[in-house]
Amino acid sequence: MTAPARAHVVGAGLAGLAAAVRLADAGIAVTLYESAQHAGGRCRSYFDATLGCRIDNGNHLLMQGNGAAMAYLAAIGAGDTLTGPEEADYPFLDLATGERWVLRPGRGRLPWWLFDRGRRVPGTSLRDYLAAARLALAQPADTVAAVLDPQSVMYRRFWRPLTVAALNTRAREASALLLGRVLRESFGRGGAACRPLMPKIGLSESLIEPALAHLRQRGAEIRFVARLRGIEIADGRIAALGFEAGGEPVAAGEMVVLAVPAPVAVRLVRGLDAPDQFRAIVNAHYRISIGDDAPFFVGLIGGTAEWVFRKREVLSVTVSAADRLIDQPAEELSLRLWRDVEQAYGLTPQKMPPAQIVKERRATFAATPAELARRPKQRTRWPNLALAGDWTDTGLPATIEGAIRSGFAAADEVLAVKTT
Ligand SMILES: Cc1cc2nc3c(=O)[nH]c(=O)nc-3n(C[C@H](O)[C@H](O)[C@H](O)COP(=O)(O)OP(=O)(O)OC[C@H]3O[C@@H](n4cnc5c(N)ncnc54)[C@H](O)[C@@H]3O)c2cc1C
Repeated sequence: MTAPARAHVVGAGLAGLAAAVRLADAGIAVTLYESAQHAGGRCRSYFDATLGCRIDNGNHLLMQGNGAAMAYLAAIGAGDTLTGPEEADYPFLDLATGERWVLRPGRGRLPWWLFDRGRRVPGTSLRDYLAAARLALAQPADTVAAVLDPQSVMYRRFWRPLTVAALNTRAREASALLLGRVLRESFGRGGAACRPLMPKIGLSESLIEPALAHLRQRGAEIRFVARLRGIEIADGRIAALGFEAGGEPVAAGEMVVLAVPAPVAVRLVRGLDAPDQFRAIVNAHYRISIGDDAPFFVGLIGGTAEWVFRKREVLSVTVSAADRLIDQPAEELSLRLWRDVEQAYGLTPQKMPPAQIVKERRATFAATPAELARRPKQRTRWPNLALAGDWTDTGLPATIEGAIRSGFAAADEVLAVKTT
């Protein structure tokens, strides 16, 4: 009995990269195929000619407690490429009232900080936080809005923005069970696990390029502009992969990890059920640098912008579950969001700097109870095919952590298969 001779990993987003890294590190020969000319999928950086600088396709926030992401960064030698506040500080501004506060959970697991009024969301009481227990008891069909009180200050200032940010789905339709899971993995593990982190330079510089370099160092073959068109099945196993440029046999003892987006996977794999409803994210990037002493980001309540991030060369806005904005003209959107940016960072009203709007129509699958029920496991009915991707059944929303966890889990499936 030996480990598989080779793994064919299709898709070089974070899920595929994580699978490839784990397999290469286990001594398996890896071929990685990617349809685009670059890796990273929905999580990458590129040069934007309008702004004259590199930007991320979207602002991505990690947390110190994202165990799989931290293990991946350590494996590719990029553990020191993230930055963020020393503590789990989440500054907010309510645009309707002008109130500012910093949500600051204590470092430990026990939430003593909740007894300190100054650390809670203004206008909320200890009882509002105990409502989190209702998420723990939620049933699979429950939405966040059905379980929590949509009329409360806590809902407007905490539960609703948290749900949209973490699940990219409006609270009225988002799964309460999944939000409960997110809470357990973040606040439930104490403030240290909630420390927000983001790349010092860009997503690709932290999460993508070091992974490609690591894979090349391990002898992996990386093929770009290699779009998988079909999968050939013979004798109950994957026998060949059909690319635009030609077929690639999958020899006995070889394995396939399919790490493509859900709509592509269902076209390729007969009988596969997967989420088919998606939600958009809109990002606006403004070419302006402000002082290093300004917060890394500000959460906004009651605006169109939901988060504003301070990057090296830009201020960047995120609007999640942004389907209502997706067809709005970019010029209109950039002007509208700029007003929120000025307020977030207390800038004196000024002419809008050069701006770029990036719309990701299918940013993530919709984290509704119905869609969650459609997430498949890594293992498939074919013994040499495993699935990866943020849409698979990771127990997490579609996130960096979920994508990487799925890639690791798919690699573990491959490593568990012993060929004779
Ligand atoms: C704007 C935006 C903001 C986000 N913000 C956050 C955040 O703050 N925090 C967070 O944790 N997550 C965030 N996410 C989610 C995160 O980016 C994704 O969950 C993650 O990148 C998904 O990785 P993946 O590998 O599963 O999928 P993908 O990145 O979609 O990778 C799939 C890859 O497969 C390739 N491919 C497709 N078809 C084929 C084919 N036929 N043959 C070969 N290759 C193919 C694609 O080109 C792609 O590279 C955000 C996403 C977006 C879009």
